[in-house]
Amino acid sequence: MAGVIDGNGIAGAIRAEIRQRVKDLQARRGLVPGLAVVLVGDDPASRIYVGRKEKACAEAGFLSRTLRLPRETRQEELLAAIGELNADPAVHGILVQLPLPGHLKAAAILTAVDPAKDVDGFHPVNVGRLVMGMEGFAPCTPRGVIELLDRTGVEIAGKEAVIVGRSNIVGKPLAIMLLARHATVTVCHTRTRDLKAVTRRADILVAAAGRPEMIRADMVKEGAVVIDVGINRLPDGRLVGDVAFPEVAPLASHITPVPGGVGPMTIAMLMQNTLEAALRAAAGA
Ligand code: NDP
Repeated sequence: MAGVIDGNGIAGAIRAEIRQRVKDLQARRGLVPGLAVVLVGDDPASRIYVGRKEKACAEAGFLSRTLRLPRETRQEELLAAIGELNADPAVHGILVQLPLPGHLKAAAILTAVDPAKDVDGFHPVNVGRLVMGMEGFAPCTPRGVIELLDRTGVEIAGKEAVIVGRSNIVGKPLAIMLLARHATVTVCHTRTRDLKAVTRRADILVAAAGRPEMIRADMVKEGAVVIDVGINRLPDGRLVGDVAFPEVAPLASHITPVPGGVGPMTIAMLMQNTLEAALRAAAGA
């Protein structure tokens, strides 16, 4: 039976480390990391995520500010608000909560965030830096996956890593990060032929497809490390991942549960990126 990776515990430890670091920075240098979250409209899931981010900021000793804008906010108004946050020295990190209402052009808005404050790692400059192995900000969920592997003691170098999903926020950046850590990486998607044959090669299998329990036991090699990024709400209200946990867990050497696996790491990495943004801003000031 696999070791179940305790994402809540690992994320809690990281948040405690950050809290301690912030205490020291405030005492020694008067530096308080600041995160601004921009929420447009009233999407219920987004409201929950933003609430969690505010709570995490308060716990870590960060300054947090949430800009709540009405659904009908115009593109120019949102760009002007981002411009003000870019210019505010107390704001080290800016996060625009996605999805944005349909009339707003997400790509132009994400590109308006100062790359030095882009703690979500979605700005093309940070994507480019990630690809080139330069210092920047890596997106929080894939960074959380790497951190989980590291803190579980999983060796990455030389391993066959297979990712199911190629989105800009999870699959693609994770592929780059695993490659930088010397894994042999394969990225699968809906056009992949014989998915099972590919996933069965994986020493490290990451499911990020958003398909409830699509990874079944016969798709997993014995002893694989299985990381489940998926979060899916079933019609009966249950929350499940992309991995059929009860049948895959007996095969895997390590596996993340849903909830309580990758999910809590995303906010922990947002805090980590914001702390790093504050340190870099202070170093450059
Ligand atoms: P997207 O819908 O943007 O991307 C899904 C990817 O999976 C696509 O590349 C798609 O392929 C691929 N895919 C879908 N179905 C299959 C299939 N049957 N076989 C092979 N590939 C498939 O999703 P996201 O990357 O945004 O999110 C993925 C999951 O992770 C979701 O459940 C989401 O809720 C969760 N998530 C969790 C986070 C966390 O904090 N834990 C953060 C972000 C996301 P194609 O490109 O060909 O369409």
